[in-house]
Amino acid sequence: MSIESILQEVFGYPSFRGPQHDIIRHVVAGGDALVLMPTGGGKSLCYQIPAIARQRAGQGITVVVSPLIALMHDQVGALHEAGVSAAFLNSTLSSEEAYQTEQRLLRGEITLLYAAPERVTTARFLGQLDALHDRGQLSLFAIDEAHCVSQWGHDFRPEYRALTVLHERYAGVPRMALTATADALTRADIVERLQLEAAAQFVSSFDRPNIRYTIVEKKDASTQLLRFIEREHAGEAGVVYCQSRKRVEEIAGMLAQAGIHALPYHAGLDFKVRQANQNEFVRGEGVVMVATIAFGMGIDKPDVRFVAHLDMPKNIEGYYQETGRAGRDGLPANAWMCYGLQDVVNQRRMIDESPAEEDFKQVMRGKLDALLGLAEATDCRRVRLLAYFDEASQPCGNCDNCLQPPEVWDATDAARKLLSTVYRLHQTSGVSFGAGHTMDIVRGKLTDKVTQRGHESVSTFGLGADYSESQLRAVMRQLIAIGALQVFTSEGFSTLHLTESSRAVLRGEVPVRLRESTSQRAVKRIRGRAVAAPAAANLGQEAMVRFINLKSWRAEVAKAHNLPAYVIFHDATLAAIAERAPQSLADLQHISGLGTRKLEAYGAAVLAVITGESRTVGAD
Ligand code: ADP
Ligand code: ZN
Repeated sequence: MSIESILQEVFGYPSFRGPQHDIIRHVVAGGDALVLMPTGGGKSLCYQIPAIARQRAGQGITVVVSPLIALMHDQVGALHEAGVSAAFLNSTLSSEEAYQTEQRLLRGEITLLYAAPERVTTARFLGQLDALHDRGQLSLFAIDEAHCVSQWGHDFRPEYRALTVLHERYAGVPRMALTATADALTRADIVERLQLEAAAQFVSSFDRPNIRYTIVEKKDASTQLLRFIEREHAGEAGVVYCQSRKRVEEIAGMLAQAGIHALPYHAGLDFKVRQANQNEFVRGEGVVMVATIAFGMGIDKPDVRFVAHLDMPKNIEGYYQETGRAGRDGLPANAWMCYGLQDVVNQRRMIDESPAEEDFKQVMRGKLDALLGLAEATDCRRVRLLAYFDEASQPCGNCDNCLQPPEVWDATDAARKLLSTVYRLHQTSGVSFGAGHTMDIVRGKLTDKVTQRGHESVSTFGLGADYSESQLRAVMRQLIAIGALQVFTSEGFSTLHLTESSRAVLRGEVPVRLRESTSQRAVKRIRGRAVAAPAAANLGQEAMVRFINLKSWRAEVAKAHNLPAYVIFHDATLAAIAERAPQSLADLQHISGLGTRKLEAYGAAVLAVITGESRTVGAD
């Protein structure tokens, strides 16, 4: 059976996406591979189809290594729905269940086995793999979330380092590593740590064209967030990332008060509560998860319509990974971040005060600066994001800066006044001061601190009285972003310092051009495609009724199977069925996402919903 027919018959998809075809062909033929593909790009099929093809060719089982124990149940459930024999081994199974699965494994009844890295490297499991290997029944290793092997990645897991045993012990068995994180450093580390020097590398475009990037200046973050959700995502599922547990609780409470179905998630919550909230998010409709970055890896809910950052992440990898959880179904989605000077200072402090080695901190500072550059950019966000992953591109037309080019003002004069104040303060008092005090001097404010220290006599005092505080803050952020100013923290105090590149700005050799702070002008609404209910956006009234009926039918099936609704059918598949209004099983052929097995299992029920013979109630 060809890989094309597996795609069509098992998964119900008409064609491969991007490099899937090349990757799958390579792996089916027994090659090693490193697959770098953005979230939502379709990595799973890249190992699932080879697993099925090789099993059918008598080559035995595929072991999928994944750190995401909580998700294995749904991943395996989705394969069962498609008629593929799969299982998982992890700590959620009772010893009897684990034993049964091991027996099935040894009998060759399983095509894909999911297991966590710490499980894979136990003597017991390796013994079972030995037995399969001796019989030529060990087909493929797929190492998912492979960036976990790297300390440069954002989710280092030491257990991944032990996976070299797979290569050493089963040298002839093909291995593939997959990840959505691929800056050069992490990529090199994966190759080295997992000994994939000889593997073919498949690097996809990292672009997620359906995601619209917006970064706004932070004023009153909670109100800004609430407006964003109410205006653009009422009733839709989304994730809100916050820096701290306390903030997660606060924001979740605030949203809930405003009538939004919001739930908190952070490592400080009881395991059961966390599980329940995650379940509700994945299985429910329109739930907003307010979370620390502890949440989200491997959540493959396809219809997350927005990801909001209320605080700035650590670096672009983290930002891209987190925002990438929006719109996996390919339909329009929003990535929205609000950030301010305090975020920059906080992130710097966390790096400065961490116990890490100085050269590690240096790398982290560089990464933070790159993110700052993105946040302060006045040109296309996507061009910058992709450039960070070494990918050249053209302005995208689907980010805030493209849709509404920011007005730019010449801030060279303000920048020089700020920098020379930092310089003079250091000269006169021999110590450095923070952003607030420096701005007070430039603006000529006689605060207690200014008078106590006699800083009204600093020669730049009051020279920038015309600038508003928010303008100066923006200048400050920009100076930090271009490296003309540095923030250092010690003992809880942040102070400003000049750098090598300050001089050129001071001399007026480097113009500083800044986006007009949004408080300086009326905020124009970005008018673009609406993102509301994108799967069903183009349905007419009657089709919409069918869509709603199909959704309530799907909810019942999902509940009965103890699986998330999207595992049964994606919204897009239901919308396509609603649109077509099929009258017979033949009419259901070739709808994307409807494979042979699902047609057999659900075709008749779907027809009954459409023709109104089912007992599912209508929209009224
Ligand atoms: P990743 O693991 O790369 O984030 P997934 O494997 O979860 O992405 O795939 C993202 C979504 O795209 C899934 O819902 C999957 O069913 C769908 N998908 C993958 N490949 C195809 C394809 N060739 N045609 C249509 N849909 C696809
Ligand atoms: Zn753009």
